Amino acid sequence: MKHQNWLETLVYLCLLCAGIFFYQNNEGFAQTVDNGINQVRTLVDQGENKLNGNHKAASSSSAPANQKQQVINGSSKSGQARWDKPSATIYVNMHDDNLQQAMEEAIHAWNATGVFHFEQVHSAKGANLIATADNNNSNRAAGLTEMSQYVSTGRFINGHVYLNRAYLDNPMYGYDHTRVVNTAEHELGHAMGLSHTNEISVMQPAGSMYSIQPRDVGAVRAIYGENKSSNHQ
Ligand SMILES: [Zn+2]
Repeated sequence: MKHQNWLETLVYLCLLCAGIFFYQNNEGFAQTVDNGINQVRTLVDQGENKLNGNHKAASSSSAPANQKQQVINGSSKSGQARWDKPSATIYVNMHDDNLQQAMEEAIHAWNATGVFHFEQVHSAKGANLIATADNNNSNRAAGLTEMSQYVSTGRFINGHVYLNRAYLDNPMYGYDHTRVVNTAEHELGHAMGLSHTNEISVMQPAGSMYSIQPRDVGAVRAIYGENKSSNHQ
């Protein structure tokens, strides 16, 4: 009943590594009509891999941008989803000391780059982003980010970042603190608009092996058009 037919949102789900088995899911594309809101939901990719050094190639997730374009049936004029400004408020409520600390470290790490600012707020209400933990050992994802955007403008509306205790807090999966922080940095990367890359990057889809790299800082700067001369890449 709301006159919001114009409002289309795209939801990204980023599933970051954690599966023992390569996990392929073709149901990631479903279209729903909800109160006049056309919502396109897609799995941008599934990471997988990695527990016992058993790298199963993540080649299928090397072109998330292309998938994105396909899924929205060419209706996107916006190449790059982003916030209007290089900043977003985020409410972090992990109910888990390890993950809370990791998420806050990741926020500080991105803020320290100077290319984007996450402002932690103390209420979910009105926050651009919400970060919580889940505990799901069936989705193979150590982290997951859902972003909604206006397709017409390519601007994010809001987002939800999850860290999965089922993997990150389970010693069996070998996530030391650094990799948990890397996972949080990766998910925050999606929350700024970054896509996956197989280069050396925090945005590698599998493994959580890298923290924020110079190329990642450059990628955020490229999206938000910050002063490009202030840093090398
Ligand atoms: Zn990802």
